[in-house]
Amino acid sequence: MKIIMLGAPGAGKGTQAKLIAERYGIPHISTGDIFRANIKAGTPLGVKAKSFIDQGLLVPDELTLELIMDRFSAADCADGYVLDGFPRTLPQAEALAKSLLEKGEAIDFAIDVDVPDERIVNRMSGRRACLKCGGTYHVKYNPPAVDGVCDACGAELVLRDDDKPETVAKRLEVYHSLTQPLIEYYGNAGILKTVDGTQDVDKVFADIMAILD
Ligand code: ADP
Ligand code: ADP
Ligand code: ZN
Repeated sequence: MKIIMLGAPGAGKGTQAKLIAERYGIPHISTGDIFRANIKAGTPLGVKAKSFIDQGLLVPDELTLELIMDRFSAADCADGYVLDGFPRTLPQAEALAKSLLEKGEAIDFAIDVDVPDERIVNRMSGRRACLKCGGTYHVKYNPPAVDGVCDACGAELVLRDDDKPETVAKRLEVYHSLTQPLIEYYGNAGILKTVDGTQDVDKVFADIMAILD
């Protein structure tokens, strides 16, 4: 099963993608996590990407595609994957479609986790991230068992640099202009499913399961 998660920054894509990946035993591929791992390791790609990410801008398509396209041919992708944060622009969606077509493959579902902007800022300020395993928590809505510690891997949780309110506002603007058009794109492709992302994490997941099962 090949799944794309769509939705604004903070809509809950990562949270749901992790649950889907566990449930189906497929990899959760997050471009944001891959960028953050590169930044942490100080790779040339990470250094280039950081300046865009810190400003709330998208990393240019060319750099993003360079990073992601060979990820799909890894052995663990044989039974599918859940893509979180990619594609984020029409050129990225077209590059993905072309590469899948060449292999005779296709995306099964694009799931739009729908949350209005006014709820987003609230979620982002309380978000805490694990840079080691990609786990995300919320101080109020989805707290870890021990304050500041990742349930899954025990690493320290951090407030992401790009989750400051000023940067979040910029990211929402970028989302509406560059990423939201993908909703129509996948709607036209006949694989778009929309879930109400303002519900509790468990309820959103149940709605997604009803679509996928
Ligand atoms: P969010 O949790 O807000 O959806 P991500 O962790 O997916 O954020 O991404 C964080 C940042 O990494 C983005 O704001 C953007 O700068 C960069 N990024 C992630 N994925 C992509 C992509 N597919 N194309 C361009 N930039 C990306
Ligand atoms: P995205 O990957 O779309 O940027 P995340 O999955 O990281 O979003 O979620 C953003 C923040 O909102 C996190 O702090 C997360 O714990 C919290 N969150 C996720 N889903 C929900 C939900 N259904 N209700 C309330 N908070 C949520
Ligand atoms: Zn972790």
